[in-house]
Formats: sequence, structure tokens, C-alpha cells
Amino acid sequence: MTPEFNLIQQYFTRPAAQADLGVGDDAALISVTPGQQMAISADMLVAGTHFFADADPYQLGWKSLAVNISDMAAMGAQPKWATLAIALPEINERWLAEFSRGFFACAEKFNVDLIGGDTTRGPLTISVQIMGEVAAGKALQRAGAKIGDEIWVSGCLGDAALALAHTLSKFNLPEAEFASCAKALHTPQPRVSLGLALLGLANSAIDVSDGLLADLGHILQCSKVGAEIHLTNIPKSSIVSNYFSINAVRQMALVGGDDYELCFTAPYKAHAEISRLGEYLDIPLSVIGQITGNTGLVVRGFNHEILDFKETGFDHFA
Ligand code: ADP
Ligand code: MG
Repeated sequence: MTPEFNLIQQYFTRPAAQADLGVGDDAALISVTPGQQMAISADMLVAGTHFFADADPYQLGWKSLAVNISDMAAMGAQPKWATLAIALPEINERWLAEFSRGFFACAEKFNVDLIGGDTTRGPLTISVQIMGEVAAGKALQRAGAKIGDEIWVSGCLGDAALALAHTLSKFNLPEAEFASCAKALHTPQPRVSLGLALLGLANSAIDVSDGLLADLGHILQCSKVGAEIHLTNIPKSSIVSNYFSINAVRQMALVGGDDYELCFTAPYKAHAEISRLGEYLDIPLSVIGQITGNTGLVVRGFNHEILDFKETGFDHFA
């Protein structure tokens, strides 16, 4: 057997419970459930751009799948299948063992089968494609926000950006606080159960990967509406709260990326049901503002003043 085949066999071949044919042939075969639409998305992680080349391989494996699963959550889709295309500078058995352990830990937690991919030599690059199912015509989209909708955010924002700032020596956190924020940065937990539960309740949704202002901005642009949000209502961990008087930390909560929470909009009549949902799923859900008929996004500060954000999020080509 060739080293490449060996490697695939050893590290990336697991039984695929939800596929008719998984890894090992020229293509995988899957059957889509009648009445469901397929939701498909891909995300690429490049060493030096999305992660440090010496990043912990277990966490990298987890995150490369988790960020894709988060896109399924944002559509209200049930993630089911993934492919993994990976370029490796060399065959490093320890690295591969840890990477695949992290990848499959995430796959098992969210019931995703790895059904195929490609393996090649090259600068470390990880490209995952995720496929899921959602009831036909029911998917949550960016384009559905309506004037008067409340704007909700799950979990809390800013922890991942704070961990990154600490890692880059731009902010100094005590060890325990860093450890907690680093978990958010390296092993994000996509909100699949929430996305599924929001079908029929939310008018629009997106996952917060590039920063709240940028991602909410996508909803506004696609829905041709405006919004007003309030700094006071931004959900934050006790750690981000500790430093929220610092301007740079407020920026991290609003424009820092890598949160992988859901931002969604829903009519006020769904408010009570969404609140109950948050309790049932044990996910904090906060209303941060509302959709308006104006253009653009207005952020109001602690004294209701309009804040000016020059930098609204992460753009790879900015
Ligand atoms: P081919 O040359 O026909 O494209 P490959 O040798 O690249 O086939 O792949 C053999 C099998 O292994 C295929 O089923 C492919 O989908 C799978 N595969 C290759 N790389 C990976 C990977 N990194 N993760 C999962 N499956 C993989
Ligand atoms: Mg191939």
C-alpha cells in the first residue's frame, strides 16, 4: 500500500452510519431523505492565516469541522456528512493521530460522518465540506429579516477574540481567564440544536464567525433593512465583563471573530417561545436590538449615544 493510502486508511477511515458508501471508493454515495433539501457549505483553514502552523493538532481537528457545522446550525440544518481535503507538508504520525482524534471527537458529538476527501502534500491547508439536511423550503436564511424583528444572539461574544489578543501579546489575561477564553477560541461548540429549534420561529439567521457587526451587517444587506443594537445588551462572559470598560475589549465583543454563536432575528410574537427554548436548551439567548427600516447598523452606547465603529469585522482582503 502507498503511504498516502495507508494514511487515509489509518487516520481518516471510520464507519459511515449515514452514508450508503463512505471512504474508499472513487466517490461516496448518500441518500437524501425525501422532503428534505441538502445544505452544503465549505470552509478552508490555511496555516499562517487562520491558525498558527504549530497549533495544537487535536484542537485544529475539532475546529476545522466545528466551524463548518456552525454554518449548518445557522441554516437550521441537521449536519450529516463531511469531506476533508488536506494538504500536509510531511507525514507526521503524531500530528495526524491528534488531528484525526479531534476531528472525529467533533464528528461524533454532532453525528457527522466523514465520507471522503483528498490528501496531498503541500503547505498545511485544511478544507472541509459539510452537507446536511433541512426540511424543504424551511431553511433559515440571511435574507428574511423584517422591520420590527428583535435581534437575538446566543451565548456570549468576545471570549475567543480575547484569547487571541492574549496569544498575540496584545492583551494580558491571568492564566485561569486565558484558559477559559482559549476553550472558546480553539474548541467552539456550534449551536446545532438551537438552529434546528429556530425553524419556523426565526426570520433570518447567521453564525457569528467574522464578528457580530460584520455578520449582522450581512443579514441587513441581504434583507435590505437596518438595525439598532445596544452595547448594554451585548451578552458577555464574566471575563469579558471584567474588562468591558476597556475600549479594545468592547471592540473584541463587537468586531472580534471566532465566536460561532448564532445571531438571528424574529418577530416579537415569538419572544416568549424563544426565551423558553433558551431555557430548555440551556443556551443563554439575549435580545441585543431590533431591525429598523433605516439603512445601516446603529450601535448605541451606555448613554444611548451613537458609537462609531470604523473596523467592523474581519475581511481577508481588506
Ligand atoms: P482518487 O485518486 O480516486 O481521488 P484517493 O486516493 O484520493 O482517490 O482517495 C481514496 C479514498 O479516500 C476516496 O474515497 C477519498 O474520498 C478518500 N479520502 C482521501 N483523503 C481523505 C481524507 N483526508 N479524509 C477522508 N477521506 C479521504
Ligand atoms: Mg483523490
